Amino acid sequence: MNLNNPQLDNCPSCGALYLRDQIDCCLNCYQANEAAFKKVDVFLKNPDYRNASIEDVHAFTDVSINKIAEFLRGGRIIASDYPNLGYPCAHCGELINRQMLCEACHRAFKHEVGVIMSDAESAETVDKQRAVSAQYWKMKK
Ligand SMILES: [Zn+2]
Ligand SMILES: [Zn+2]
Repeated sequence: MNLNNPQLDNCPSCGALYLRDQIDCCLNCYQANEAAFKKVDVFLKNPDYRNASIEDVHAFTDVSINKIAEFLRGGRIIASDYPNLGYPCAHCGELINRQMLCEACHRAFKHEVGVIMSDAESAETVDKQRAVSAQYWKMKK
């Protein structure tokens, strides 16, 4: 088996078949993506636009808000460098400027994870019970 064999895959953006080699979308989308990024990057590097919001960036560059949000979430553009540049929370759409989720959704998410974790905890409790009963049997001897 040749591990270097390029793999054929569907582009996640446009669905076209492409060779999954170095990039994770087809060349067309990749180039469009890079062009969009350059536009946004050049726009934001202009000190006059430091206070731009995501809507401003969209209006000036014609890059979709989703695409800009993608650059921000991916960390290619650091939202916290710009005072008004928030992007929508991945869950509720509220504007945030770091990570994927707003404070409230993050807390809700953590709670949910906590529920899953408590299953792991109950396994721990079983271990503790075993330890206690082992001690009990030791004392009985
Ligand atoms: Zn594509
Ligand atoms: Zn949220």
